[in-house]
Amino acid sequence: MKITDVKTFLMEGGRRQWVFVKIETDEGIHGWGEGTLERHERAVAQAIHDVSIRIDGRDPTQVERLWQSLYRHGFWKGGPVIGSAISALDQALWDITGKVYGQPVYKLIGGQVRDRVRAYTHAQDLTGVRGLVDEGFSAFKTGGWVVGDDEVNENRIPEALREKIGVMRREVGPDVDIMIDNHGRSRPALAIKQIAAIEDLNVKFFEEPVPPENLDSLQLVRNAGFHTELATGERLYFRWGYKDLIARRLVDVIQPDICHGGGISELRRIAAAAETEHILVAPHNPNGPVACAASVQLCAAIPNFMILETARDMPWHDDVQKKPLKITDGFYELPTEPGLGIDLDEDVIASRPFNEDTHDRRYVPSVNAEDGSPADV
Ligand SMILES: [Mg+2]
Repeated sequence: MKITDVKTFLMEGGRRQWVFVKIETDEGIHGWGEGTLERHERAVAQAIHDVSIRIDGRDPTQVERLWQSLYRHGFWKGGPVIGSAISALDQALWDITGKVYGQPVYKLIGGQVRDRVRAYTHAQDLTGVRGLVDEGFSAFKTGGWVVGDDEVNENRIPEALREKIGVMRREVGPDVDIMIDNHGRSRPALAIKQIAAIEDLNVKFFEEPVPPENLDSLQLVRNAGFHTELATGERLYFRWGYKDLIARRLVDVIQPDICHGGGISELRRIAAAAETEHILVAPHNPNGPVACAASVQLCAAIPNFMILETARDMPWHDDVQKKPLKITDGFYELPTEPGLGIDLDEDVIASRPFNEDTHDRRYVPSVNAEDGSPADV
């Protein structure tokens, strides 16, 4: 079997624009992958074409050999754009390989260690919280900054967060898991004040307390000695991006993204490395349907899985899948079809092309401090 073509597709997905890849073969079997990287979609699509030159004409079932070619033969390593391109191609190679052998991918990477995959989604207010609980979810995540996005007054942030989480906790009672995503927006001193403010509200984890590029800043938060668990990882790439984070045990939960961190192949390795330090894995997964399907396959097979993110702000998410993934009572069912268990409808993709009007404007606004200086988003 040989790879004969690699096609990319950009599709408006809701808050994000999706980047899909389709690998075609000389035997008529195709595989789907996804490298969605919001605000950088066209760079990833081009990177997919650039790096896939190295696997053109080769046997797609030699997944690891091709992964190594993609990673090593490009000379430049790491980063979100190359990481997303390789991740997308890796997913598509696994999809093809599963179809060739007639098995779901999780059966080819060790077999399932669980019968269903627990999911959480997002809520920013009480109405959202009630809706999710009514749908059967037993876990949700909310933002760590609750003062107006364009008016960042740090003094109010810890107490405003305490008030918001306290109201949510009273609403759902003790059994629903609440997580907080701080989006890497705080300095260490502020992150410490935020966590101190919610320490008695039984938050499951506090995500990206500080920007991701400086582990010593994360160490300062860790040194504060909270019992609230810390999480990070959506903006780290390949196993080397996780090496020191895991070895220094700076968080309790890592959040690799199957769209950016090196695909199914690499996230398995990252999860295994985390297992040695008794760190759990809660994959970042706000992207499109192929990434979600690949994440479900991975989560079925890794022992130290905690919970999988799922986003609900994607109006065409189910339409573009010929047979959509299913969530029942807050858990993804394991697909039994070969490969990733989904197929995309190219007519639906074509009907929602990349949208210049929403790209980087309406859905992803900039955030500035009170004096107008740029702040992390
Ligand atoms: Mg996050």
